[in-house]
Amino acid sequence: MRTIVQAFTGGLYGPASYTDRDTEKLISAIDRFSAESAIIGWNAGAPYDKITSALHELKKEVFLWLPVFSELGGEAVAAVDFLGGKHVGAVSGADDDFTFACPSEPVNIGLAAAHFDRHFKDCGFDGVFLDKIRFSTFGNGFASGMGCYCKRCRDYYSQEGVDMGKFMKLMGHSSKGFLIPEALHGMGYTFENALIDKLFRARAKLITESVAKVAAMFRQRGLKVGLDVFAPPFAYLFGQDTEALAGCADFIKPMIYRVTDAPAGVPYEARHMKAELAANGCSIGDRLEALWGTDDLSSEECFRAQLAQLAKLPCRVYSGVEVNKTDFCATTAEYVEETIKTVKESNIAGCVLSWNVLSEFVVCSW
Ligand SMILES: [Zn+2]
Repeated sequence: MRTIVQAFTGGLYGPASYTDRDTEKLISAIDRFSAESAIIGWNAGAPYDKITSALHELKKEVFLWLPVFSELGGEAVAAVDFLGGKHVGAVSGADDDFTFACPSEPVNIGLAAAHFDRHFKDCGFDGVFLDKIRFSTFGNGFASGMGCYCKRCRDYYSQEGVDMGKFMKLMGHSSKGFLIPEALHGMGYTFENALIDKLFRARAKLITESVAKVAAMFRQRGLKVGLDVFAPPFAYLFGQDTEALAGCADFIKPMIYRVTDAPAGVPYEARHMKAELAANGCSIGDRLEALWGTDDLSSEECFRAQLAQLAKLPCRVYSGVEVNKTDFCATTAEYVEETIKTVKESNIAGCVLSWNVLSEFVVCSW
C-alpha cells in the first residue's frame, strides 16, 4: 500500500503555525509510515524551500496544498445563490473560510495559479494538491448548497439544456422532493425530474471544465496535480464528477472522513444535508444510505462500497484518513489502523494520512 502524509502549516492569512521542529516531525512521520510524498500548506509563511530541500534529499516528492474556489480572499468573485444572495460561508475562522467563489468566473479560475506565482513558485514544489474544487455544501445553508447561479453560471446551465425559468418555478414550490436522487449511477446520481437531472449534470461538467483549466495552468508550470475530492456519497451533489475529475489529475484523495464533525466530514455533511433539505420541503431521509446499501454513510460497509467504486478510476486513488485529533475530529489509533487495513484489502493505491501529521496525537500514537 502506498502512503502520502499531509501537513497543515496554518490558514492562508494568519501567521504560519509551522516551526523548524515541524520539519523533524514531518520527516519522522514520513519514515514511520513509509510515505512516498508529502502534501503541505497552505499558509504562505512556512519555510517551504527548506522543507522541499530536506524532503528531496530523502527522494520524496512535495505537493503544495492549495484551495481553489474558496479561501483566496479579496480578489475572488463570490458565488451567487439561486435567490440572488452573495455567498457567505457559515463556517469561517482563522484557519479556514468556507465562503465559496463562483467556479465559472475566469478571475477565480486563475486565482490559484496567481497565488502560487506570488508566494510559492521558487519553493521547489513537485506538484500542487488542489482543494475546494466544488460548490458549497448544505453546511452553509440550503441556498448555498444548491450552487452558483450568477449570470455566467445560469448561461452555462442554459447551454446545457436546463430551462432556468422552469428551474426557478420548481424551486418556488413548497415541496421539493424532486431534489432527492433516484438512483446511483457509478459514483453520481440520477434524478427522476429531467430538469434537475440535467442541472446536476451541468453543474458537475462546469466544475470539471474549470478544474481542468486550473490543472492545466499548473502543468504548464511543470507541476504534477493531485485533487482533494469529497467522499463519493456527497461528491456529485456538490458538483464533483469524481470519474471525470480523475481524468485531470495524477492522483485524487477522496476525503472519506468518517469521524470528522466539520466540513467534508461524512457525519457533518450528512447531518447538514438532511436538516437543510428537510427545512426546505425535501425529506431525503435515508435515501443516500439506501442507494449505497447501508444504514450509516460512516460505516465500514459503506466505506468498502466506496473503495470498490473508486478502484475503477483511471488514476491513483488515496483514501483520505483523518489522523489528527481535534475537538471536532474524534479519531483514535484504532480507527486509523482499521481504516488503513480496509484500504489495504481494497484495490485502490493507498492512503493520505490527513490532514495534519504534525499533530501531537500522531506524534504520541505511532
Ligand atoms: Zn457562478
